[in-house]
Amino acid sequence: MIPIFDGHNDTLTKLYSLENGLDLFFKGSQKCDIDLPGSQKGNLLYGNFSIFVPPKMTSKERDPMYGMEFTHKGYRKRLANAIDPNYARKYTNSLIKFLNLLKVRAKGTIYTIRKYQDLIKGLKNQNLGVILHFEGAEVIKKDISNLEWYYQKNLRSLGLVWSRPNNFGTGVPFEFPNTPNIGPGLTDEGKNLIKECNSLGIMIDLAHINEKGFWDAENKSEHPLVVSHTGVHSICPSTRNLTDDQIDAIGDTNGIIGVMFEPSNIRPDGKLNKNTSIKTIVDHIDYIIQRIGIDHIGLGSDFDGAIMIDSLNHVSKLPILIKFLKKEGLTKNSIEKIAFRNWIRVLKETWYH
Ligand SMILES: [Zn+2]
Repeated sequence: MIPIFDGHNDTLTKLYSLENGLDLFFKGSQKCDIDLPGSQKGNLLYGNFSIFVPPKMTSKERDPMYGMEFTHKGYRKRLANAIDPNYARKYTNSLIKFLNLLKVRAKGTIYTIRKYQDLIKGLKNQNLGVILHFEGAEVIKKDISNLEWYYQKNLRSLGLVWSRPNNFGTGVPFEFPNTPNIGPGLTDEGKNLIKECNSLGIMIDLAHINEKGFWDAENKSEHPLVVSHTGVHSICPSTRNLTDDQIDAIGDTNGIIGVMFEPSNIRPDGKLNKNTSIKTIVDHIDYIIQRIGIDHIGLGSDFDGAIMIDSLNHVSKLPILIKFLKKEGLTKNSIEKIAFRNWIRVLKETWYH
């Protein structure tokens, strides 16, 4: 069975929010998209496990549809407010402790990936490798003095922004149809953060960032460009998706694009319709292959962070996607690149060791 590297999930954040989250993860549950039995069944070997700091919300605001305005062509949601960095640090540090608890209970079936060699070892031992990722850099101090502390806590992948502003840059509001070119680029601190991530060997993830911020990062970073969970704008023109110029730039830096499984960012009509065929995901994969080749495409489900299409709404279903790619006529070598080899190559180039 082909191993799978998933470029983005919010499972830690989800489990932390659930009562008995750890029990559900080890037993398996419909309440989370990724659990341990499902990962073993689906052959998920690695993932960028995200810590996402949720905004403090009233119960009304907790509804994902809150503030969503439907237009005759699609939808529009106001950009979320910035969050307090102190709150973000407190929340993130609790989640790092929660991940440690999860690892203790897993008795070796889950381990932290710190370096390239861990990825290679992971191919043999078949356990689930966790790469610690922050979705948004709110926890990082403006002077970047605590980045190394988080590196010591195993942070290996950092999303500059979620869909809200912070000290370093600005994300896109959720809109369809619209261009990702909304709002200002990176701040001076944002450019410094890229330099520091480059020198420590922390992967920078450009998911959720607006277009000006993307080009500032492209200009500043010496690493392959990475967008962990996204889609193709010319198939589905949502603000979260990549324009052809952005796709080309990612190819030029030997980077990677993780395609997500969330209907409203993959369907040409932008509808949040769970009854969407796997073929729609494969259309995004094919488009990227046609445009920049087989070496720059991977998976980035967004499990536990968004609504998934029904046919891929649990980690145990991942082999269905692999089978679909086989049916499409892709070779084993190409499928392996999409499933895990491209992600491993990018991390090898980014982490230094
Ligand atoms: Zn996201």
